[in-house]
Amino acid sequence: MNVTELMSRLGVDEAALAGGALVVTTPIDGSEIARVAIDDAASIEAKIAGAQEAFLAWRAIPAPRRGELVRLFGEELRAHKDDLGRLVTIDCGKILSEGLGEVQEMIDICDFAVGLSRQLYGLTIASERPGHHMRESWQPLGPVGIISAFNFPVAVWSWNAALALVCGNSCVWKPSEKTPLTALAVQALFERAAVKFGDAPEGLSSVIIGGRETGEALVDDARIALVSATGSTRMGREVGPRVAARFGRVLLELGGNNAGVVTPSADLDLALRAVCFAAAGTAGQRCTSLRRLFVHKSIYDDFVPRLKTAYQSLPVGDPLEAGTLVGPLIDHASFDCMHYALDRAKAQGGAITGGAHLGEAGWYVRPAIVELAEHEGIVLEETFAPILYVMPYETLDEAIAMQNGVAQGLSSCIFTRDILEAERFLSAAGSDCGIANVNIGPSGAEIGGAFGGEKETGGGRESGSDAWKAYMRRQTQTVNYSTELPLAQGVKFDI
Ligand code: NAD
Repeated sequence: MNVTELMSRLGVDEAALAGGALVVTTPIDGSEIARVAIDDAASIEAKIAGAQEAFLAWRAIPAPRRGELVRLFGEELRAHKDDLGRLVTIDCGKILSEGLGEVQEMIDICDFAVGLSRQLYGLTIASERPGHHMRESWQPLGPVGIISAFNFPVAVWSWNAALALVCGNSCVWKPSEKTPLTALAVQALFERAAVKFGDAPEGLSSVIIGGRETGEALVDDARIALVSATGSTRMGREVGPRVAARFGRVLLELGGNNAGVVTPSADLDLALRAVCFAAAGTAGQRCTSLRRLFVHKSIYDDFVPRLKTAYQSLPVGDPLEAGTLVGPLIDHASFDCMHYALDRAKAQGGAITGGAHLGEAGWYVRPAIVELAEHEGIVLEETFAPILYVMPYETLDEAIAMQNGVAQGLSSCIFTRDILEAERFLSAAGSDCGIANVNIGPSGAEIGGAFGGEKETGGGRESGSDAWKAYMRRQTQTVNYSTELPLAQGVKFDI
Protein backbone atom coordinates (compact mmCIF):
# COMPACT_ATOMS: atom_id res chain seq x y z
CA MET A 1 0.00 0.00 0.00
CA ASN A 2 2.49 2.64 -1.15
CA VAL A 3 0.23 5.68 -1.30
CA THR A 4 2.93 8.16 -2.30
CA GLU A 5 3.91 6.07 -5.31
CA LEU A 6 0.27 5.56 -6.31
CA MET A 7 -0.47 9.28 -5.99
CA SER A 8 2.61 10.19 -7.97
CA ARG A 9 1.53 7.93 -10.87
CA LEU A 10 -1.83 9.72 -10.76
CA GLY A 11 -0.05 13.08 -10.99
CA VAL A 12 -0.06 14.27 -7.36
CA ASP A 13 3.25 15.55 -6.09
CA GLU A 14 4.69 14.05 -2.89
CA ALA A 15 4.80 17.53 -1.35
CA ALA A 16 0.97 17.69 -1.39
CA LEU A 17 0.82 14.68 0.95
CA ALA A 18 2.91 15.93 3.83
CA GLY A 19 2.83 18.76 6.34
CA GLY A 20 -0.85 19.69 6.00
CA ALA A 21 -3.32 20.04 8.87
CA LEU A 22 -5.72 17.33 7.72
CA VAL A 23 -4.51 13.93 8.88
CA VAL A 24 -5.67 11.25 6.44
CA THR A 25 -6.01 7.66 7.62
CA THR A 26 -7.03 4.55 5.72
CA PRO A 27 -9.93 2.51 7.10
CA ILE A 28 -8.05 -0.63 6.04
CA ASP A 29 -5.96 -0.57 9.22
CA GLY A 30 -6.49 2.92 10.64
CA SER A 31 -2.93 3.99 9.81
CA GLU A 32 -1.97 7.52 8.78
CA ILE A 33 -1.32 7.76 5.03
CA ALA A 34 -0.96 11.52 4.43
CA ARG A 35 -1.31 15.02 5.84
CA VAL A 36 -2.91 17.34 3.34
CA ALA A 37 -3.37 21.09 3.43
CA ILE A 38 -6.75 22.54 4.30
CA ASP A 39 -7.85 25.46 2.11
CA ASP A 40 -8.06 28.69 4.07
CA ALA A 41 -10.48 31.54 3.39
CA ALA A 42 -8.12 33.24 0.91
CA SER A 43 -7.56 30.10 -1.09
CA ILE A 44 -11.30 29.28 -1.15
CA GLU A 45 -12.01 32.82 -2.35
CA ALA A 46 -9.37 32.50 -5.09
CA LYS A 47 -10.84 29.21 -6.31
CA ILE A 48 -14.43 30.50 -6.34
CA ALA A 49 -13.32 33.69 -8.13
CA GLY A 50 -11.36 31.51 -10.58
CA ALA A 51 -14.44 29.37 -11.20
CA GLN A 52 -16.53 32.48 -11.90
CA GLU A 53 -13.92 33.80 -14.34
CA ALA A 54 -13.61 30.40 -16.03
CA PHE A 55 -17.38 30.14 -16.38
CA LEU A 56 -17.54 33.39 -18.35
CA ALA A 57 -15.12 31.97 -20.94
CA TRP A 58 -16.32 28.34 -20.91
CA ARG A 59 -20.01 29.14 -21.49
CA ALA A 60 -19.09 30.66 -24.88
CA ILE A 61 -17.33 27.51 -26.12
CA PRO A 62 -19.65 25.32 -28.25
CA ALA A 63 -21.04 22.41 -26.25
CA PRO A 64 -19.58 19.65 -28.51
CA ARG A 65 -16.14 21.20 -28.03
CA ARG A 66 -16.75 21.20 -24.26
CA GLY A 67 -17.59 17.53 -24.66
CA GLU A 68 -14.12 16.99 -26.12
CA LEU A 69 -12.55 17.95 -22.77
CA VAL A 70 -14.76 15.44 -20.98
CA ARG A 71 -13.80 12.82 -23.59
CA LEU A 72 -10.12 13.46 -22.92
CA PHE A 73 -10.73 13.24 -19.18
CA GLY A 74 -12.48 9.88 -19.72
CA GLU A 75 -9.34 8.71 -21.56
CA GLU A 76 -7.19 9.65 -18.55
CA LEU A 77 -9.54 7.65 -16.34
CA ARG A 78 -9.28 4.64 -18.65
CA ALA A 79 -5.50 4.83 -18.59
CA HIS A 80 -5.39 5.12 -14.79
CA LYS A 81 -8.37 2.98 -13.80
CA ASP A 82 -6.29 0.44 -11.85
CA ASP A 83 -4.41 3.04 -9.81
CA LEU A 84 -7.42 5.23 -9.10
CA GLY A 85 -9.62 2.22 -8.24
CA ARG A 86 -6.97 1.06 -5.78
CA LEU A 87 -6.77 4.52 -4.27
CA VAL A 88 -10.56 4.54 -3.81
CA THR A 89 -10.21 1.31 -1.83
CA ILE A 90 -7.41 2.74 0.31
CA ASP A 91 -9.27 6.03 0.87
CA CYS A 92 -12.72 4.68 1.79
CA GLY A 93 -12.29 0.92 2.38
CA LYS A 94 -14.64 -0.53 -0.24
CA ILE A 95 -13.42 -3.77 -1.84
CA LEU A 96 -11.17 -3.48 -4.88
CA SER A 97 -13.78 -4.58 -7.44
CA GLU A 98 -16.06 -1.83 -6.12
CA GLY A 99 -13.21 0.69 -6.17
CA LEU A 100 -12.60 -0.20 -9.81
CA GLY A 101 -16.35 -0.18 -10.43
CA GLU A 102 -16.52 3.37 -9.13
CA VAL A 103 -13.90 4.47 -11.67
CA GLN A 104 -15.80 2.59 -14.38
CA GLU A 105 -18.85 4.60 -13.40
CA MET A 106 -16.81 7.78 -13.93
CA ILE A 107 -15.78 6.56 -17.39
CA ASP A 108 -19.39 5.71 -18.22
CA ILE A 109 -20.71 9.12 -17.20
CA CYS A 110 -17.97 10.80 -19.25
CA ASP A 111 -19.10 8.82 -22.31
CA PHE A 112 -22.71 9.75 -21.56
CA ALA A 113 -21.79 13.42 -21.18
CA VAL A 114 -19.82 13.49 -24.44
CA GLY A 115 -22.91 12.26 -26.32
CA LEU A 116 -25.05 14.69 -24.38
CA SER A 117 -22.84 17.59 -25.47
CA ARG A 118 -24.53 17.29 -28.89
CA GLN A 119 -28.01 16.79 -27.45
CA LEU A 120 -28.77 19.70 -25.15
CA TYR A 121 -32.09 19.99 -26.89
CA GLY A 122 -34.81 22.56 -26.30
CA LEU A 123 -38.35 22.60 -27.67
CA THR A 124 -39.84 24.70 -30.42
CA ILE A 125 -43.28 25.90 -29.39
CA ALA A 126 -46.17 27.11 -31.56
CA SER A 127 -46.74 30.84 -31.06
CA GLU A 128 -50.32 32.19 -30.94
CA ARG A 129 -49.12 35.34 -32.75
CA PRO A 130 -48.65 35.53 -36.54
CA GLY A 131 -45.06 36.06 -37.71
CA HIS A 132 -43.63 34.83 -34.41
CA HIS A 133 -41.83 31.77 -33.23
CA MET A 134 -41.06 30.51 -29.74
CA ARG A 135 -38.41 28.18 -28.52
CA GLU A 136 -36.88 26.96 -25.32
CA SER A 137 -33.13 27.31 -25.03
CA TRP A 138 -30.93 25.75 -22.34
CA GLN A 139 -28.15 28.09 -21.22
CA PRO A 140 -25.14 27.47 -18.98
CA LEU A 141 -26.00 28.17 -15.34
CA GLY A 142 -22.83 29.27 -13.55
CA PRO A 143 -20.22 27.79 -11.22
CA VAL A 144 -21.41 24.54 -9.62
CA GLY A 145 -20.39 23.67 -6.05
CA ILE A 146 -20.15 19.92 -5.48
CA ILE A 147 -20.12 18.63 -1.90
CA SER A 148 -19.57 14.87 -1.71
CA ALA A 149 -19.74 12.10 0.89
CA PHE A 150 -17.02 9.63 1.88
CA ASN A 151 -18.68 6.49 0.54
CA PHE A 152 -18.59 7.37 -3.17
CA PRO A 153 -15.49 9.54 -3.08
CA VAL A 154 -15.12 9.96 -6.86
CA ALA A 155 -18.22 8.70 -8.76
CA VAL A 156 -20.63 11.25 -7.28
CA TRP A 157 -18.34 14.12 -8.26
CA SER A 158 -18.11 12.79 -11.81
CA TRP A 159 -21.90 12.45 -12.16
CA ASN A 160 -22.08 16.15 -11.41
CA ALA A 161 -18.92 17.44 -13.02
CA ALA A 162 -19.16 15.60 -16.37
CA LEU A 163 -22.66 16.99 -16.92
CA ALA A 164 -21.91 20.43 -15.48
CA LEU A 165 -18.88 20.83 -17.77
CA VAL A 166 -20.65 19.92 -21.01
CA CYS A 167 -23.50 22.19 -19.94
CA GLY A 168 -21.01 25.09 -19.91
CA ASN A 169 -20.35 25.45 -16.19
CA SER A 170 -17.25 25.47 -14.02
CA CYS A 171 -16.99 23.33 -10.86
CA VAL A 172 -15.64 23.68 -7.33
CA TRP A 173 -15.49 20.39 -5.43
CA LYS A 174 -15.54 19.99 -1.65
CA PRO A 175 -14.90 16.27 -1.10
CA SER A 176 -15.46 14.54 2.23
CA GLU A 177 -12.73 15.35 4.74
CA LYS A 178 -12.49 11.56 5.22
CA THR A 179 -11.45 10.93 1.59
CA PRO A 180 -9.40 13.85 0.26
CA LEU A 181 -6.73 11.81 -1.54
CA THR A 182 -9.00 10.54 -4.30
CA ALA A 183 -10.17 14.11 -4.93
CA LEU A 184 -6.59 15.36 -5.30
CA ALA A 185 -5.83 12.51 -7.71
CA VAL A 186 -8.95 13.14 -9.81
CA GLN A 187 -8.08 16.84 -10.00
CA ALA A 188 -4.57 15.95 -11.21
CA LEU A 189 -6.03 13.70 -13.93
CA PHE A 190 -8.45 16.44 -14.93
CA GLU A 191 -5.58 18.92 -15.24
CA ARG A 192 -3.74 16.51 -17.56
CA ALA A 193 -6.83 16.30 -19.75
CA ALA A 194 -7.12 20.11 -19.72
CA VAL A 195 -3.53 20.45 -20.95
CA LYS A 196 -4.25 18.03 -23.81
CA PHE A 197 -7.44 19.98 -24.61
CA GLY A 198 -5.38 23.14 -25.02
CA ASP A 199 -7.61 26.11 -24.27
CA ALA A 200 -9.60 25.16 -21.17
CA PRO A 201 -9.81 28.24 -18.95
CA GLU A 202 -7.78 28.23 -15.75
CA GLY A 203 -9.92 27.42 -12.70
CA LEU A 204 -12.53 25.46 -14.67
CA SER A 205 -12.42 22.70 -12.06
CA SER A 206 -10.90 22.98 -8.61
CA VAL A 207 -10.89 21.20 -5.27
CA ILE A 208 -11.20 22.76 -1.84
CA ILE A 209 -10.15 20.61 1.08
CA GLY A 210 -11.69 20.88 4.53
CA GLY A 211 -14.64 19.98 6.73
CA ARG A 212 -18.15 21.35 6.93
CA GLU A 213 -17.01 25.00 7.26
CA THR A 214 -15.32 24.62 3.89
CA GLY A 215 -18.59 23.29 2.47
CA GLU A 216 -20.41 26.22 4.05
CA ALA A 217 -18.24 28.62 2.06
CA LEU A 218 -19.77 27.18 -1.14
CA VAL A 219 -23.24 27.09 0.35
CA ASP A 220 -23.23 30.80 1.23
CA ASP A 221 -21.47 32.20 -1.85
CA ALA A 222 -23.85 33.86 -4.31
CA ARG A 223 -21.45 33.16 -7.19
CA ILE A 224 -22.15 29.44 -6.81
CA ALA A 225 -25.26 29.07 -8.97
CA LEU A 226 -25.94 25.45 -8.01
CA VAL A 227 -24.92 23.59 -4.87
CA SER A 228 -25.09 19.86 -5.44
CA ALA A 229 -24.71 18.25 -2.03
CA THR A 230 -24.49 14.53 -1.31
CA GLY A 231 -24.46 13.26 2.26
CA SER A 232 -26.63 12.81 5.32
CA THR A 233 -30.12 14.21 5.74
CA ARG A 234 -28.71 16.23 8.62
CA MET A 235 -26.34 17.96 6.21
CA GLY A 236 -29.11 18.56 3.65
CA ARG A 237 -31.33 20.08 6.31
CA GLU A 238 -28.64 22.69 6.91
CA VAL A 239 -27.55 23.23 3.31
CA GLY A 240 -31.01 23.38 1.64
CA PRO A 241 -32.47 26.39 3.52
CA ARG A 242 -29.16 28.32 3.39
CA VAL A 243 -28.91 28.06 -0.39
CA ALA A 244 -32.63 28.81 -0.73
CA ALA A 245 -32.19 31.94 1.43
CA ARG A 246 -29.96 33.43 -1.28
CA PHE A 247 -32.23 32.05 -4.04
CA GLY A 248 -29.49 29.73 -5.26
CA ARG A 249 -30.30 26.39 -6.80
CA VAL A 250 -29.77 23.23 -4.77
CA LEU A 251 -29.58 19.55 -5.70
CA LEU A 252 -29.74 17.28 -2.67
CA GLU A 253 -28.80 13.58 -2.58
CA LEU A 254 -29.30 12.54 1.04
CA GLY A 255 -29.83 9.51 3.22
CA GLY A 256 -31.86 6.44 2.35
CA ASN A 257 -33.59 3.69 4.31
CA ASN A 258 -34.14 1.28 1.48
CA ALA A 259 -36.38 -1.75 1.59
CA GLY A 260 -37.04 -4.98 -0.27
CA VAL A 261 -40.05 -7.29 -0.40
CA VAL A 262 -39.60 -11.05 -0.90
CA THR A 263 -42.87 -12.54 -2.11
CA PRO A 264 -44.00 -16.20 -2.16
CA SER A 265 -43.36 -16.49 -5.93
CA ALA A 266 -39.79 -15.10 -5.73
CA ASP A 267 -36.76 -16.99 -7.05
CA LEU A 268 -35.29 -17.42 -3.58
CA ASP A 269 -31.77 -18.27 -4.78
CA LEU A 270 -31.64 -15.06 -6.78
CA ALA A 271 -33.20 -13.06 -3.94
CA LEU A 272 -30.65 -14.47 -1.48
CA ARG A 273 -27.68 -13.35 -3.60
CA ALA A 274 -29.25 -9.96 -4.27
CA VAL A 275 -30.02 -9.35 -0.59
CA CYS A 276 -26.49 -10.30 0.53
CA PHE A 277 -24.88 -7.92 -1.96
CA ALA A 278 -27.29 -5.06 -1.28
CA ALA A 279 -27.31 -5.30 2.53
CA ALA A 280 -23.81 -6.51 3.43
CA GLY A 281 -21.84 -5.33 0.37
CA THR A 282 -19.84 -2.10 0.77
CA ALA A 283 -20.22 -2.90 4.50
CA GLY A 284 -23.72 -1.38 4.31
CA GLN A 285 -22.22 1.98 3.40
CA ARG A 286 -24.11 2.79 0.22
CA CYS A 287 -26.90 5.34 0.25
CA THR A 288 -28.86 2.61 -1.58
CA SER A 289 -27.87 -0.24 0.78
CA LEU A 290 -30.73 -2.56 1.70
CA ARG A 291 -31.71 -1.89 5.32
CA ARG A 292 -35.22 -3.32 5.69
CA LEU A 293 -36.52 -6.61 4.31
CA PHE A 294 -40.15 -7.74 4.33
CA VAL A 295 -40.48 -11.49 3.80
CA HIS A 296 -43.85 -13.15 3.22
CA LYS A 297 -44.75 -15.27 6.24
CA SER A 298 -45.27 -18.38 4.07
CA ILE A 299 -41.58 -18.45 3.03
CA TYR A 300 -40.07 -16.75 6.08
CA ASP A 301 -38.90 -19.97 7.76
CA ASP A 302 -37.31 -21.17 4.54
CA PHE A 303 -35.64 -17.94 3.41
CA VAL A 304 -34.44 -16.24 6.60
CA PRO A 305 -32.40 -19.19 8.00
CA ARG A 306 -30.67 -19.49 4.60
CA LEU A 307 -29.91 -15.78 4.69
CA LYS A 308 -28.41 -16.07 8.18
CA THR A 309 -26.22 -18.97 7.06
CA ALA A 310 -25.01 -17.02 4.02
CA TYR A 311 -24.17 -14.04 6.26
CA GLN A 312 -22.00 -16.22 8.49
CA SER A 313 -19.80 -17.21 5.56
CA LEU A 314 -19.35 -13.76 3.98
CA PRO A 315 -15.58 -13.09 3.78
CA VAL A 316 -14.90 -9.95 5.84
CA GLY A 317 -11.40 -8.46 5.76
CA ASP A 318 -8.77 -6.46 3.91
CA PRO A 319 -10.58 -4.90 0.92
CA LEU A 320 -7.41 -5.07 -1.20
CA GLU A 321 -7.28 -8.89 -0.88
CA ALA A 322 -8.88 -10.97 -3.62
CA GLY A 323 -11.83 -12.89 -2.24
CA THR A 324 -12.87 -10.33 0.38
CA LEU A 325 -16.50 -9.30 -0.04
CA VAL A 326 -16.95 -7.02 2.98
CA GLY A 327 -14.37 -4.39 3.90
CA PRO A 328 -14.18 -2.17 7.00
CA LEU A 329 -16.45 0.55 8.30
CA ILE A 330 -15.06 4.00 7.63
CA ASP A 331 -14.15 4.75 11.27
CA HIS A 332 -14.72 4.21 14.97
CA ALA A 333 -17.71 6.60 15.04
CA SER A 334 -19.41 4.48 12.41
CA PHE A 335 -18.86 1.35 14.52
CA ASP A 336 -20.37 3.16 17.53
CA CYS A 337 -23.44 4.11 15.47
CA MET A 338 -23.86 0.49 14.42
CA HIS A 339 -23.73 -0.74 17.99
CA TYR A 340 -26.01 1.98 19.24
CA ALA A 341 -28.58 0.84 16.63
CA LEU A 342 -28.15 -2.84 17.56
CA ASP A 343 -28.66 -2.00 21.26
CA ARG A 344 -31.86 -0.14 20.42
CA ALA A 345 -33.05 -3.00 18.20
CA LYS A 346 -32.41 -5.43 21.04
CA ALA A 347 -34.38 -3.24 23.44
CA GLN A 348 -37.25 -3.38 20.92
CA GLY A 349 -37.18 -7.18 21.10
CA GLY A 350 -35.05 -7.80 18.01
CA ALA A 351 -33.20 -11.12 17.60
CA ILE A 352 -29.69 -10.29 16.41
CA THR A 353 -27.37 -12.49 14.35
CA GLY A 354 -23.87 -11.10 13.65
CA GLY A 355 -22.60 -7.60 14.42
CA ALA A 356 -19.36 -8.65 16.16
CA HIS A 357 -16.20 -6.58 15.87
CA LEU A 358 -13.59 -8.57 13.93
CA GLY A 359 -9.83 -8.09 13.85
CA GLU A 360 -7.61 -5.67 15.66
CA ALA A 361 -6.76 -2.81 13.32
CA GLY A 362 -9.58 -1.13 11.41
CA TRP A 363 -13.31 -1.32 12.15
CA TYR A 364 -14.33 -4.64 10.65
CA VAL A 365 -17.69 -6.14 11.58
CA ARG A 366 -19.69 -9.25 10.83
CA PRO A 367 -22.80 -7.88 9.00
CA ALA A 368 -25.87 -8.16 11.20
CA ILE A 369 -29.41 -9.42 10.67
CA VAL A 370 -32.07 -8.31 13.14
CA GLU A 371 -35.39 -10.13 13.13
CA LEU A 372 -38.25 -8.05 14.40
CA ALA A 373 -42.01 -8.43 14.59
CA GLU A 374 -42.84 -4.73 14.22
CA HIS A 375 -41.78 -2.00 11.81
CA GLU A 376 -40.98 0.78 14.31
CA GLY A 377 -38.31 2.62 16.35
CA ILE A 378 -34.72 2.27 15.15
CA VAL A 379 -35.88 0.50 11.96
CA LEU A 380 -37.23 3.83 10.72
CA GLU A 381 -33.79 5.47 10.89
CA GLU A 382 -30.83 5.18 8.52
CA THR A 383 -27.81 3.63 10.25
CA PHE A 384 -24.89 3.75 7.84
CA ALA A 385 -23.61 0.24 8.58
CA PRO A 386 -24.41 -3.38 7.63
CA ILE A 387 -27.59 -3.98 9.62
CA LEU A 388 -30.54 -5.62 7.90
CA TYR A 389 -33.89 -5.53 9.72
CA VAL A 390 -36.05 -8.46 8.66
CA MET A 391 -39.80 -8.56 9.26
CA PRO A 392 -42.62 -10.88 8.13
CA TYR A 393 -45.65 -9.61 6.21
CA GLU A 394 -49.03 -11.04 5.23
CA THR A 395 -50.40 -8.96 2.34
CA LEU A 396 -48.57 -7.04 -0.37
CA ASP A 397 -50.47 -3.87 0.55
CA GLU A 398 -49.15 -4.20 4.09
CA ALA A 399 -45.58 -4.69 2.80
CA ILE A 400 -45.82 -1.67 0.50
CA ALA A 401 -47.22 0.46 3.33
CA MET A 402 -44.25 -0.50 5.56
CA GLN A 403 -41.79 0.03 2.72
CA ASN A 404 -43.18 3.57 2.26
CA GLY A 405 -43.59 4.19 5.98
CA VAL A 406 -40.26 5.93 6.56
CA ALA A 407 -39.09 9.51 6.11
CA GLN A 408 -36.56 8.63 3.38
CA GLY A 409 -37.46 7.73 -0.22
CA LEU A 410 -34.37 6.66 -2.14
CA SER A 411 -34.51 3.07 -3.40
CA SER A 412 -36.73 0.01 -3.19
CA CYS A 413 -37.19 -3.45 -4.67
CA ILE A 414 -39.46 -6.46 -4.90
CA PHE A 415 -38.57 -10.08 -5.62
CA THR A 416 -41.47 -11.74 -7.42
CA ARG A 417 -42.34 -13.76 -10.52
CA ASP A 418 -45.96 -12.62 -10.33
CA ILE A 419 -46.50 -9.86 -12.88
CA LEU A 420 -49.48 -8.47 -10.99
CA GLU A 421 -47.36 -8.01 -7.86
CA ALA A 422 -44.46 -6.50 -9.81
CA GLU A 423 -46.68 -3.99 -11.61
CA ARG A 424 -48.54 -3.11 -8.42
CA PHE A 425 -45.20 -2.35 -6.75
CA LEU A 426 -44.28 -0.09 -9.69
CA SER A 427 -47.68 1.62 -9.87
CA ALA A 428 -48.81 4.96 -8.46
CA ALA A 429 -49.99 3.08 -5.37
CA GLY A 430 -46.68 1.20 -5.07
CA SER A 431 -43.20 2.25 -3.99
CA ASP A 432 -42.85 5.98 -3.26
CA CYS A 433 -39.08 5.99 -3.90
CA GLY A 434 -36.99 7.59 -6.63
CA ILE A 435 -35.75 4.12 -7.61
CA ALA A 436 -37.90 0.96 -7.77
CA ASN A 437 -36.50 -2.38 -8.95
CA VAL A 438 -37.93 -5.82 -9.71
CA ASN A 439 -35.75 -8.88 -9.03
CA ILE A 440 -32.70 -6.67 -8.37
CA GLY A 441 -31.59 -5.26 -5.02
CA PRO A 442 -31.96 -1.53 -4.38
CA SER A 443 -28.25 -0.69 -4.87
CA GLY A 444 -25.87 -0.57 -7.83
CA ALA A 445 -27.73 1.78 -10.18
CA GLU A 446 -26.60 2.31 -13.77
CA ILE A 447 -25.61 5.81 -14.89
CA GLY A 448 -28.16 5.93 -17.74
CA GLY A 449 -31.12 6.57 -15.43
CA ALA A 450 -31.74 9.63 -13.26
CA PHE A 451 -30.48 8.88 -9.75
CA GLY A 452 -32.01 10.24 -6.55
CA GLY A 453 -34.86 9.97 -4.11
CA GLU A 454 -37.90 11.59 -2.58
CA LYS A 455 -38.87 12.93 0.85
CA GLU A 456 -35.89 13.31 3.22
CA THR A 457 -33.58 11.94 0.51
CA GLY A 458 -33.86 15.45 -0.89
CA GLY A 459 -35.62 15.17 -4.26
CA GLY A 460 -32.51 15.73 -6.42
CA ARG A 461 -31.74 13.79 -9.59
CA GLU A 462 -28.24 13.24 -10.96
CA SER A 463 -26.51 11.26 -13.68
CA GLY A 464 -28.57 10.02 -16.65
CA SER A 465 -31.93 10.69 -18.33
CA ASP A 466 -32.64 14.44 -18.31
CA ALA A 467 -30.79 15.16 -15.04
CA TRP A 468 -28.58 17.56 -17.09
CA LYS A 469 -31.37 20.14 -16.96
CA ALA A 470 -30.49 20.86 -13.31
CA TYR A 471 -27.17 22.27 -14.54
CA MET A 472 -28.72 24.67 -17.05
CA ARG A 473 -30.92 27.73 -17.15
CA ARG A 474 -34.10 27.34 -19.18
CA GLN A 475 -34.89 30.35 -21.31
CA THR A 476 -38.13 30.85 -23.24
CA GLN A 477 -37.39 32.88 -26.36
CA THR A 478 -39.95 34.57 -28.59
CA VAL A 479 -38.95 36.13 -31.92
CA ASN A 480 -41.12 38.47 -34.01
CA TYR A 481 -40.08 38.16 -37.66
CA SER A 482 -43.01 40.29 -38.94
CA THR A 483 -43.44 44.08 -39.14
CA GLU A 484 -46.58 43.99 -36.95
CA LEU A 485 -46.73 43.98 -33.18
CA PRO A 486 -49.61 41.69 -32.19
CA LEU A 487 -49.84 41.30 -28.41
CA ALA A 488 -50.47 38.01 -26.64
CA GLN A 489 -54.01 37.19 -25.50
CA GLY A 490 -55.35 39.70 -28.11
CA VAL A 491 -54.54 42.71 -25.92
CA LYS A 492 -54.88 46.07 -27.77
CA PHE A 493 -52.46 48.90 -26.99
CA ASP A 494 -52.58 51.22 -30.01
CA ILE A 495 -50.60 54.43 -29.77
P1 NAD B 1 -22.05 13.82 5.82
O1 NAD B 1 -23.39 14.46 5.72
O2 NAD B 1 -21.42 13.69 7.15
O3 NAD B 1 -20.99 14.62 4.90
C1 NAD B 1 -21.20 14.78 3.52
C2 NAD B 1 -20.44 16.01 3.03
O4 NAD B 1 -21.10 17.18 3.50
C3 NAD B 1 -19.00 16.11 3.53
O5 NAD B 1 -18.20 16.60 2.48
C4 NAD B 1 -19.11 17.12 4.67
O6 NAD B 1 -17.92 17.81 4.94
C5 NAD B 1 -20.18 18.06 4.13
N1 NAD B 1 -20.95 18.81 5.13
C6 NAD B 1 -21.42 18.37 6.32
N2 NAD B 1 -22.16 19.34 6.91
C7 NAD B 1 -22.15 20.40 6.08
C8 NAD B 1 -22.72 21.71 6.13
N3 NAD B 1 -23.45 22.11 7.18
N4 NAD B 1 -22.52 22.54 5.09
C9 NAD B 1 -21.79 22.15 4.02
N5 NAD B 1 -21.20 20.94 3.93
C10 NAD B 1 -21.39 20.07 4.94
O7 NAD B 1 -22.19 12.38 5.12
P2 NAD B 1 -21.14 11.16 5.05
O8 NAD B 1 -21.02 10.53 6.39
O9 NAD B 1 -19.90 11.58 4.34
O10 NAD B 1 -21.91 10.17 4.06
C11 NAD B 1 -22.90 9.28 4.47
C12 NAD B 1 -24.29 9.84 4.19
O11 NAD B 1 -24.39 10.26 2.82
C13 NAD B 1 -25.38 8.81 4.37
O12 NAD B 1 -26.49 9.41 4.99
C14 NAD B 1 -25.72 8.39 2.93
O13 NAD B 1 -27.01 7.85 2.77
C15 NAD B 1 -25.55 9.69 2.22
N6 NAD B 1 -25.29 9.51 0.80
C16 NAD B 1 -26.32 9.80 -0.07
C17 NAD B 1 -26.14 9.58 -1.43
C18 NAD B 1 -27.25 9.84 -2.39
O14 NAD B 1 -26.98 9.89 -3.59
N7 NAD B 1 -28.50 10.01 -1.96
C19 NAD B 1 -24.91 9.11 -1.91
C20 NAD B 1 -23.89 8.85 -0.99
C21 NAD B 1 -24.10 9.06 0.36
